[in-house]
Amino acid sequence: MTTTDTRPTTTRPATEYLDPKLNSKIPEGPIERKWERHKFEMKLVSPTNRRRYTIIVVGSGLAGASAAATLGEAGYNVKCYSYHDSPRRAHSIAAQGGINAAKNYRNDGDSVFRLFYDTVKGGDFRSREANVYRLAEVSTAIIDQCVAQGVPFAREYSGYLDNRSFGGAQVARTFYARGQTGQQLLLGAYQALSRQIGLGQVKMFSRTEMLDLVVVDGRARGIVTRDMVTGKIESHIADAVVLATGGYSNVFYLSTNAKACNTTAIWRAHRRGAFFGNPCFTQIHPTCIPISGDHQSKLTLMSESLRNDGRVWVPKTPGDKRPPSSIPEDERDYYLERRYPSYGNLAPRDISSRAAKQVCDEGRGVGPGGLGVYLDFSDAIKRLGKKVIEERYGNLFEMYERITGENPYETPMRIYPAVHYTMGGLWVDYNLMSTIPGLFVIGEANFSDHGANRLGASALMQGLADGYFILPYTIADYLASTKLQKVDATHVAFRETEAEVADRTRRLLDTKGTRTVDMFHRELGKIMWDYCGMARNEAGLKHALDLIPDLRERFWREVKVPGEGNDINQELEKAGRVADFMELAELMCIDALHRDESCGGHFREEHQTEDGEAERDDENFSYVAAWEFTGLGTKPVLHREPLIFEYVKPAVRSYK
Ligand SMILES: Cc1cc2nc3c(=O)[nH]c(=O)nc-3n(C[C@H](O)[C@H](O)[C@H](O)COP(=O)(O)OP(=O)(O)OC[C@H]3O[C@@H](n4cnc5c(N)ncnc54)[C@H](O)[C@@H]3O)c2cc1C
Repeated sequence: MTTTDTRPTTTRPATEYLDPKLNSKIPEGPIERKWERHKFEMKLVSPTNRRRYTIIVVGSGLAGASAAATLGEAGYNVKCYSYHDSPRRAHSIAAQGGINAAKNYRNDGDSVFRLFYDTVKGGDFRSREANVYRLAEVSTAIIDQCVAQGVPFAREYSGYLDNRSFGGAQVARTFYARGQTGQQLLLGAYQALSRQIGLGQVKMFSRTEMLDLVVVDGRARGIVTRDMVTGKIESHIADAVVLATGGYSNVFYLSTNAKACNTTAIWRAHRRGAFFGNPCFTQIHPTCIPISGDHQSKLTLMSESLRNDGRVWVPKTPGDKRPPSSIPEDERDYYLERRYPSYGNLAPRDISSRAAKQVCDEGRGVGPGGLGVYLDFSDAIKRLGKKVIEERYGNLFEMYERITGENPYETPMRIYPAVHYTMGGLWVDYNLMSTIPGLFVIGEANFSDHGANRLGASALMQGLADGYFILPYTIADYLASTKLQKVDATHVAFRETEAEVADRTRRLLDTKGTRTVDMFHRELGKIMWDYCGMARNEAGLKHALDLIPDLRERFWREVKVPGEGNDINQELEKAGRVADFMELAELMCIDALHRDESCGGHFREEHQTEDGEAERDDENFSYVAAWEFTGLGTKPVLHREPLIFEYVKPAVRSYK
């Protein structure tokens, strides 16, 4: 039984924060009717008129591919862009564990309301209720859509789709395809996209990187791209622009994200007027392979699904260096089961990560450097047999063995928290539109539904909800209600933006300094991890805010980018992305410093309970922080969107 502390927390009247520049456009009415009613009230574009509109979709991961395919199917002209050589290479392919949906196939008490409740609570009451409810509501349709596409979800003997559990839930609602759920879902979205490409309804621009957004008369009307093979810088025009460009965890240099993931698209849009929501909200995932040395450029996730059967423990005694098999049962501390008996090893990610850090800080960590905890499958293998464990997690075990040289069927895995996901992103209203009219942001690129901590298996759900089921309605409403003037690439806004992109590219090549892009990126990542990582405090954040502008200045003076601009040049691509990370990093620290409370993954050391849990301050911080860019080196302006909780009352979050 969950023990939720229902002590009332005082909340300031929402009107105190009302900001004329932020209108979340949440529809009226009871929460379970809002989306249905909104869908009816929104304007439509008739089928014959859709071919008159062109929509740019940047990104072809789960969010972008599902949006582009659906808009193409509906009859719009779609232009879809990706820096990958194929949509199938998007980072979404890496998602292992699963996707949530409130189908209640297990009959274990799940419902749309429970998924909504778990997600709001999991996000530590820092997300918008109406959005989260809609997400839970459309979750069931996603599974039907994917099954119809032939996504090979795991099944039980009865033929029903199988489910497992993820953190922060006491029901089994996670649909999965072994440890390759993202890959299988992406193949489904990709085949739908390919069909539209074949029909000529979607034009796919692979190996094409968006380097800026073009705003005409206050509306998003296009993008400027660089062809990554020829170096050609070009403008592309549309009636609306959708960014589906993923998350920015790589600001930390080391993360579980694919190496190419970056912030450029959303950061450039931010500089053009799109507010950035909760930039400091970062997820640190508890189940990653520990860092093995300075040479490393990437970290590897071990899916949270493993915690369904794996038990997390460390030795009870600090400094105990015996191999795990020599440590008797009564000298082991199964600290998650001990501290959070209701959820045990499936406590949410923020809480499990902090607990791992605490035991390592006490000197009880295992493996080289003492930064690791055990994830042990021996009980599960005894109970279920090796074959069942192999069926459930075989590819993950194989991956672990290849990287570490240790066989997890025989010896416990060693895991440690690592940066994994960014809950922050461009601020969007209920219609997924940013503060620049005509600029929509979907998937991990927006700040939307996860508050201060994302529950496992809910990113795939959100990306596909946005792309298949929400954006296609809301973008139609925008197009049908907006009179757009005709523009072409000779418009001054396009010419100026193109010139700025060309100039920036030239500057990077002309600097001809002595230090590689990676050197700067690694240095930035260390600052971010040390001062804006798993634990943050005022002094550290202020220190980071001294270091980052200095590093940025040195970057532009000393960076060495070999090669030319009119050719394939991966160093040049990296340099542009790291330059943007340098600016974003500063905003993240400003945001983390201003949010003088702990919530979810944002752990300010000054605000914790005696046993090290995060202490929220609802009175002063129950809002989304949406930052407005005012120029580099100038303080950004903070806008607040008040968070009003009518259905899930903010309470002290407990998983005990
Ligand atoms: C290792 C790992 C495992 C995960 N497992 C799960 C899981 O089991 N369940 C779950 O729910 N979530 C999981 N997640 C999170 C989830 O995978 C991501 O949040 C989600 O896939 C993001 O999808 P997206 O479509 O928003 O972005 P992405 O898949 O990152 O796609 C971004 C797209 O944008 C393009 N792009 C970006 N910038 C530009 C630019 N400037 N110009 C042109 N193109 C650009 C890229 O080419 C790509 O096509 C996992 C994450 C990681 C790192």
